[in-house]
Amino acid sequence: MLISILRIGKVSLEVLERIKENLKDAFPDTECSVIPQEAPLPRESLDKHRMQHRSDMILSLVHELAEKMRNVHRVLGVVDVDIFVPGMNFVFGQAECPGKTAVISLWRLRPEFYGAPENMNILVERGTKEAVHELGHTMGLEHCSNPFCVMYFSNSIFETDRKKSLFCWKCYVKVQKFLFALGERLGKGCLQG
Ligand SMILES: [Zn+2]
Ligand SMILES: [Zn+2]
Repeated sequence: MLISILRIGKVSLEVLERIKENLKDAFPDTECSVIPQEAPLPRESLDKHRMQHRSDMILSLVHELAEKMRNVHRVLGVVDVDIFVPGMNFVFGQAECPGKTAVISLWRLRPEFYGAPENMNILVERGTKEAVHELGHTMGLEHCSNPFCVMYFSNSIFETDRKKSLFCWKCYVKVQKFLFALGERLGKGCLQG
């Protein structure tokens, strides 16, 4: 499987390079790359009253761009602004379930958002968990009731910190099934030339 990471607006490349490396631990036989060009944040996604961006609109943009990327299986959009969906105060990320695209925000993963000192390692660890979680959704995985599984729905940073960046065995079986089916499809594609 090939996962591409797309920056939307200004996002630290250093953080993304480290998240990219960590994704390989969660998904076997997967290649990841960071797309060099950044896409601009869609202007219409900003809610001026809330000073937050609509994640569903950002996800639509990623979807549109991903359609043009033929050889890529998943596209993970990353923003460094606060995002929300109507009906919720904020979200850490959003994904098509199943689908090709997902989006995460680093904004509320920063320790300094909670009044703690800046810490790159914590930011990368949290970013990895949210990235694996949303990519899990794109493979059709739903939320898991195991609070240590990466597919557990975290409503707060405490819950993000408690869970691991890996799938529990039940979820991991689903990931493996997905990857096996994808490999089968790709294999057949090759035979057909
Ligand atoms: Zn979720
Ligand atoms: Zn699980």
